[in-house]
Amino acid sequence: MRELDDHAAHALTLVSPLAPVTVPISAALGALVADDCLARTASPPFDNSAMDGYALRAADVAGASEGAPVTLPVAGETAAGAAHGRVPPGTAWRIMTGAPLPAGADAVVQVEATDGGVDAVAVRSPVEAGRHVRLAGEDCREGDLVVPAGARLTAVRLAALAAAGVAEVSVAPRPRVAVLATGDELVAPGEALGPGQIHDSNATLLAGLVAEAGADAVVLERVRDEPSALLARLDDVHVDLIVTTGGVSVGAYDVVKAALADRGVDFVTVAMQPGKPQGLGSVDGTPIACLPGNPVSVLVSFATIVAPMIRRLRGVDRGSPAQASVVAEGWRTPPGRRQFMPVRFVSGGEVAPATAGGSGSHLVASLAVADALADIPAAVSEVVAGDTVRIVRWSP
Ligand code: AMP
Ligand code: MG
Repeated sequence: MRELDDHAAHALTLVSPLAPVTVPISAALGALVADDCLARTASPPFDNSAMDGYALRAADVAGASEGAPVTLPVAGETAAGAAHGRVPPGTAWRIMTGAPLPAGADAVVQVEATDGGVDAVAVRSPVEAGRHVRLAGEDCREGDLVVPAGARLTAVRLAALAAAGVAEVSVAPRPRVAVLATGDELVAPGEALGPGQIHDSNATLLAGLVAEAGADAVVLERVRDEPSALLARLDDVHVDLIVTTGGVSVGAYDVVKAALADRGVDFVTVAMQPGKPQGLGSVDGTPIACLPGNPVSVLVSFATIVAPMIRRLRGVDRGSPAQASVVAEGWRTPPGRRQFMPVRFVSGGEVAPATAGGSGSHLVASLAVADALADIPAAVSEVVAGDTVRIVRWSP
């Protein structure tokens, strides 16, 4: 049996980071930046007013007070979006928020501290130099680092780039990941069940996990347990990674194993529970991970084997930092195999098993209450309340 860490390390050797692409910022939400993004313009680009009011020289209203306002002629007016003016000494310049500060002015008196005059203005309070002036470049200067390589482009980061004059970014492309469920017993969700049939939940699970991992899922039409049908389905699929479910065990109709064992895929057993039977390799040059059929096994295999492959395709070195939680309610674990137990967070951040019947790998409906997986070392045979366990997430 192969250790999970060895298996996952081997999986990473099958993929390499995709070449970055340049996209407009309007299409970059959620993408990972490939290169440092530097400001192309300063923000603000020019000195401007933080208030509606009057730009002037602070020295000209040094003596102003409620009782003895200083009246200055208004030499001009600038609205936001207009060009700079020039305010002569001893005059005021009417100015709106965001409008360029006229040359000569060193402060803005807000309109509330004046009589709001148009031809002349009475200023009722003094103002210190620099007051209500937003200086060019105080947010960022041209050439400043705005978003570092590797960062995920969120709404606020994209807004920062827009403000800094950056319209296009070089990002890691979203990998394309094909998802294929196999099994004679499968029917589509919602379809009436005939004898022995179950609803295919793995295709839905994997499509969602792939999207949550920052890749585009290409959901292939599920195939029956017929090797030629599986090979036909994989023919002409152009993706960065293929993930299959089911048919990798030692049963009589293990279609994936039958079709791919002599076509570049190694089928092995991995010392984990659930998720023991696994396949890894390449088909016609495309990396492929063949996961077992049980849905909880699919989730665990995705979190531990497939998600790191997708991260690598996206140029991301590591997943979320490891977390630890205290156990509120214990469970038994299999001897000699590392266990991944679906857990839910209960009060105070403690964890309890999500699946009432233990770690049964078929308990897919119970996954609805699971928040994460507890990673229990092989040597542990029982987890008891009060233990501290490592927590693994399946999505970033
Ligand atoms: P297999 O490895 O193909 O023998 O499948 C193992 C178990 O997982 C069986 O109980 C299957 O019915 C179940 N299974 C396989 N594929 C799916 C699927 N797409 N959705 C839900 N259950 C599945
Ligand atoms: Mg099957």
